[in-house]
Amino acid sequence: MTAPAFEEVPKPEAEDWMSCESRRPWVFNSLQSKATDLRSRERRAREAFRRGYMGVPAQYVADAYAEAAAVFEARISALNGIKAGPTTARECFWTPDADGYWNTACGQGHTFTTDGPAENNHRFCCYCGGRISIKENGDAGN
Ligand SMILES: [Zn+2]
Repeated sequence: MTAPAFEEVPKPEAEDWMSCESRRPWVFNSLQSKATDLRSRERRAREAFRRGYMGVPAQYVADAYAEAAAVFEARISALNGIKAGPTTARECFWTPDADGYWNTACGQGHTFTTDGPAENNHRFCCYCGGRISIKENGDAGN
């Protein structure tokens, strides 16, 4: 089961709110929040039952979460493809997973030898150039 490629989502037409410094971040935050939640649920489902009686059904549910998350991530990616207005610093959300692997909102993955973007003086996404915003996935360290 593969998630749809980001490129498959047509680039939306630039609209007024997409360069608004209050509405644009709200949309990003809303999409990212749900995407992070879905990825977290996907991971939990995958780790819940790796084999045996519940193994296959749990993976089936995890796949559904992954597909749903990809929908939100594709919208984030599509929005990132639209140039923000001059007053808006475009953001790229970086979300760490339990293994210390960082998923970027623009669809890339990144690892650091130690720690995260801030500790490594990464202020801008090295893939899309957006300002890095860290989004914790909510279940790390628990
Ligand atoms: Zn990026």
